[in-house]
Amino acid sequence: METISGYYDDNEILTFQADVLQVNKTDKNYEVILDKTYFYPEGGGQPADRGIIDNCKVINVLKTDGQIIHLCDKEPSQGTVNCKIDENWRFDFMQQHTGQHIVSGALKQIGDYNTVSVHLGTEYSTIEIAEESISDNHLQEVEMLANKIVNENRKINFHWTDKTGLNQFQLRRPTKEENNIRIVQIADFDTAACGGLHFAQTGQAGLIKYLYKENIRGRVRLYWKIGRRALTDYWQKNEIVLKLNSSFSCKTEELFQKIEQYQQDYNLHLKKLNDLSLRLADYQAAKILNKTQKIKIQNLSLDFCIQLFSQEENKYIIKIAEKLIKKDSILFLLINKNEQNFNWFVGLSENLSIELTQIIPQFIKKIEGKGGGRPPFWQGIGFNNSYIDSIENVFLKIVQETK
Ligand SMILES: [Zn+2]
Repeated sequence: METISGYYDDNEILTFQADVLQVNKTDKNYEVILDKTYFYPEGGGQPADRGIIDNCKVINVLKTDGQIIHLCDKEPSQGTVNCKIDENWRFDFMQQHTGQHIVSGALKQIGDYNTVSVHLGTEYSTIEIAEESISDNHLQEVEMLANKIVNENRKINFHWTDKTGLNQFQLRRPTKEENNIRIVQIADFDTAACGGLHFAQTGQAGLIKYLYKENIRGRVRLYWKIGRRALTDYWQKNEIVLKLNSSFSCKTEELFQKIEQYQQDYNLHLKKLNDLSLRLADYQAAKILNKTQKIKIQNLSLDFCIQLFSQEENKYIIKIAEKLIKKDSILFLLINKNEQNFNWFVGLSENLSIELTQIIPQFIKKIEGKGGGRPPFWQGIGFNNSYIDSIENVFLKIVQETK
């Protein structure tokens, strides 16, 4: 027995009663077949209706071999059940679908742009055209014409035909279907074969707003917000603009210039900050060099210095290290203490012929850390801050004991 379906002729019916004919359990869901239904099954680029059958959520609706199958999350009771189609979901996709026909018709009229594919998503409706590009002027004309067709509230007519009857219609895009072909005709504007759900008047599609385009495989994909979505989008964008007006204390038309000015100022300040931190590193390096101590390693006399920093940026410490390393006969250890761990930096002047690469791993092991490097610079991390107090002695002992 084939289900009686009324989603085309009575698409205003959203609540109804029906008899459950059959329920099949699948892996996760229940396939429910009713004696009649107004649920729209997925097809024609339009997703299936959502809703409720006897307190069970309808997750999807499919049409196979003339049978409408409602995929439910639970098992409905036997007999007569109450059914309710999600009104907002249905209305939204009818707006997307009706709007898409209007936009495709406008694309054809403005620049003979052919729609080759359509996707009606939950966020955007997209239309791909068989062109490598479309100008902004043309897009604006398309958008203007589409909204004009909406405002004129033109009648949309529906016809059923088959292959032989097709020649009475001038389709915008040819169809491969041979039987039960549904023709959607916007009065004096656009004719297409389509099995989706549309309004009977163009006015219900609401505002049609172009967003942006993408180039995909030599085609252009156009993104649209249609109907309530366009209004919501406008509302959200207006909120953002109002916040920016307040943050930058300026009118909308001045925003772009204001933000550009902020970016320029920011880059200037960043450069100044960098110059200052280089000068500070110079000063700090000189201070460190003032308190060196003479030590002997492998019979070579050199200056050793150690400095402890607290929560500095490591790149600032490296700047200091780069200054120190320029001096002759110096070995230094810099420690940057963080909340949970510390960073260490070791440098050795290039005029000194001491082999530190063998020694550094012993130091790392002793402080339970990680790291490495090569002459003249080594760096790493220590995971236990309790080693910091004795780190000078630990380091000097290891380097001085090395033969
Ligand atoms: Zn359609």
